[in-house]
Amino acid sequence: MANVNNSKTVNLLGFNINNFSMYEALDYALELIKSGKGGQIVTINPEMIQSAKKKIYFKQVIQNADLVIPDGVGIKIGLKLKNIDAKRIAGIEFSYKMLEKCAQQKIPVALIGAKPHVVYGAVNALQKQIPNLKTVYFHNGYFSDEERVIKEMKKAMPKFVLVALGSPRQEYFIQNALKDLPDSVMIGVGGSFDVWSGNVKRAPEFYQKYGLEWLYRTIKEPKRLKRIFPTLPNFVLNVIKEDVLKIK
Ligand code: UDP
Repeated sequence: MANVNNSKTVNLLGFNINNFSMYEALDYALELIKSGKGGQIVTINPEMIQSAKKKIYFKQVIQNADLVIPDGVGIKIGLKLKNIDAKRIAGIEFSYKMLEKCAQQKIPVALIGAKPHVVYGAVNALQKQIPNLKTVYFHNGYFSDEERVIKEMKKAMPKFVLVALGSPRQEYFIQNALKDLPDSVMIGVGGSFDVWSGNVKRAPEFYQKYGLEWLYRTIKEPKRLKRIFPTLPNFVLNVIKEDVLKIK
């Protein structure tokens, strides 16, 4: 079972998810940093749940995460089928707000992932937008020597680390990196650096409001379609079968 142990924890297909508001999630994550407990934050979506069914190590990583936030409308739909209302928290927004809090509270941060010009662009943009942000380390996501990157990062001593390597690689990287930086808090952020650097546009507000960012990204990049179909319908069917009708 996940370490997410409180009354606001809900379960979906065997995964514990923190049903927090944005501000509760931010407070929880900041407390993990300030208490020195450290840990992994997972922004969960149906694709990850479906993939974790086949990959036992990935499943364990999600189940052992210290904070699991429902990113994407798919999780909201899955929980709704179980009569649970959940607030969707977009990982990119949560991460940005965390960076603002870190800047205010003098918590050093690091960014790992994306193409070299993208991570560089993201760091520059964030430093301009967020006063007093202390970025102590960054590295692109196209490295073969993971241990070197972790060693370098360890020397810089960040307490909040954003990892943009795509899923599940970013979650595996975090597991590994936490062995060397156990009191840091790390989160996988997918394509967020591409957006912050200005290389990719975030979906217009309409799509954001209705949780349809996946639709916008799929229209822009049709090859993403195979990531949604049959994943999303299979996920919904699994929730109905296992969690609603309780057929195992
Ligand atoms: N990426 C990376 N190293 C790799 C593969 C991908 O740094 O070996 C980066 C990629 O440049 C992009 C991010 O990981 O910035 C993945 O973004 P995507 O939107 O595909 O994330 P997902 O939807 O898989 O979470």
